[in-house]
Amino acid sequence: MANEQAERSKNGCELCGSAAAISAYEVAPKAQNSASNTIFICDKCEAQIEKKEALDATHWHCLSESMWSEVPAVQVTAWRMLNRLRNESWAADNLDMLYLDEETLAWAKATGDHEDDGTVDLHKDSNGNVLQNGDTVVLIKSLDVKGSTLNAKMGTVVKNIRLVTDNTEQIEGKIEGQTIVILTRYLRKQGG
Ligand SMILES: [Zn+2]
Repeated sequence: MANEQAERSKNGCELCGSAAAISAYEVAPKAQNSASNTIFICDKCEAQIEKKEALDATHWHCLSESMWSEVPAVQVTAWRMLNRLRNESWAADNLDMLYLDEETLAWAKATGDHEDDGTVDLHKDSNGNVLQNGDTVVLIKSLDVKGSTLNAKMGTVVKNIRLVTDNTEQIEGKIEGQTIVILTRYLRKQGG
């Protein structure tokens, strides 16, 4: 198995064929035997699968080829991404052609990812720059933190922010040692 994986990772991204930096990616949900869940993909494919970047339909035309992979984890990923893109006629056509055996199809459906419509909600700062966990931001407004004497003046730098998972308008950050929730419209990404 290890040899087979080493061999696969040499041939570029298993989804788009890119020769850019390839890393091992574990296709959810995690299995006991993670080797069979692993695919080798480029950063661009991973960022879009993980919804850290907006879906770029043009990029995913690559699935027309990679969906015929013999690797079930690649088939599963291709099937999920084609579902997210199903409003595009080429993607819908490919989905019609893509046959997964019963077990693989059950795996593909297990995350519910295919029910998404492909829109990606990203955390963005006041200028529309995409925010990531770990970014440094600057307050563009003095914040009044209720019940606190916290000094959150305009211009305060907040390092190592965390994105609030289910709310794209909020991040968490530490000011004077206290973790507070800050609205993304009141901040700007440093250097952004
Ligand atoms: Zn790729």
